[in-house]
Amino acid sequence: MNWAGRWQQAIADAEATGLYRQRRLLKSAQNVQQEIDGKSVLSFSSNDYLGLAADPRLALAGEQAIQRYGVGAGASHLVNGHHRLHHELEEALADFLGREAVLLFSSGYMANLGTLQALGPLVQRIYHDRLNHASLLDGGRLTGLPFRRYPHGNLATLERWLGQYTEHSLVVTDGVFSMDGDSAPLNELTALARTHNSLLVVDDAHGIGVLGEGGRGVTAAFDSTEVPVLVGTLSKAFGCYGAFVAGDRSLIDYLIQYARTYRYTTALPPSIAASALAALDVIRQEPERRVHLQRLIERFRHGLQALGWPLGASDSPIQPVIMGSTERAIDAAEQLLQQGILVVPIRPPTVPVGSARLRITLTAQHSMADVDRLLSALGPFLTESVRVTEDQHE
Ligand SMILES: *Cc1c(COP(=O)(O)O)cnc(C)c1O
Repeated sequence: MNWAGRWQQAIADAEATGLYRQRRLLKSAQNVQQEIDGKSVLSFSSNDYLGLAADPRLALAGEQAIQRYGVGAGASHLVNGHHRLHHELEEALADFLGREAVLLFSSGYMANLGTLQALGPLVQRIYHDRLNHASLLDGGRLTGLPFRRYPHGNLATLERWLGQYTEHSLVVTDGVFSMDGDSAPLNELTALARTHNSLLVVDDAHGIGVLGEGGRGVTAAFDSTEVPVLVGTLSKAFGCYGAFVAGDRSLIDYLIQYARTYRYTTALPPSIAASALAALDVIRQEPERRVHLQRLIERFRHGLQALGWPLGASDSPIQPVIMGSTERAIDAAEQLLQQGILVVPIRPPTVPVGSARLRITLTAQHSMADVDRLLSALGPFLTESVRVTEDQHE
């Protein structure tokens, strides 16, 4: 078989199992009302939780930085690409998170690859929550160390595994799980890591800016003795791009020396750092965005409950509606789109087989009326699904 034949076969396999994916064309800014594939839709599918991606203040800060400093960083941080704006952002983030230091990475994916790869030589094995983000798994694989995935949130299993060895392990978890929206059991995880001399890595990509005291994320109440390695991203609540690791100064210095995705890539454009600084100002000065978002989340959950739908454990803006089969999730998303509502169906392998879902995300830009419109559009599917499930139980 020639090469083209081989990849066409693999594509056909994806089509046959409902896993073939296509990109939609976004022609407007990343707002809740957007133009996608030539159609005006109300979107419940971005990670722009605070509605900052198209905020004029962030745009202006970036624009001014481009005028002054140009577009590209020109080099990696360790050559001569470490701009004053990067440095200022690192210090501002460290101050915001109550950590000694912060290191910027070019994306969350790269932060996780580089951090786990760099920490690998200090430990003997790695334990992941089964629902950890792909970038954490891939980072773990880069170390070449043995790893195991404990069932989601199953601390008894993790404790048993940790107890089998006296050597050091890495315990790795999402802060807020990206497809389920629930939070990691951090009280228990910090205690287990301490008891078993293990290093805890928390990736709070979805929590920082949104949850916790002052929007400091799900680890807000923990210091760096309890959560020594904290990863965050600037691409979600910050509405920008890039990511960071926060911790003690020695951790940050260690990562500068050893994290390959830090050393061997070009620094973020300085203008992105300027926009992220503007986003941090908004996060600090406009707590009402978080308050409004929480009200939207509550309204959505009450609405689901009123439809007889079993609620998941999420108190974050990520509200999955689990449909089961891939076909059902895709069918529901298509019907919603016909009504002008954009919700993305998430299917295996992103989520476990049999748990295909509509991943609904709320942002501070939504109104209560938007949530009500979504609920009434969802109503028919959910009542139908609840009936089907009840029939199966009889
Ligand atoms: C989105 C996400 C990432 C990747 O972040 P990017 O900045 O988009 O590369 C990493 N971890 C988790 C848990 C995420 O949800």
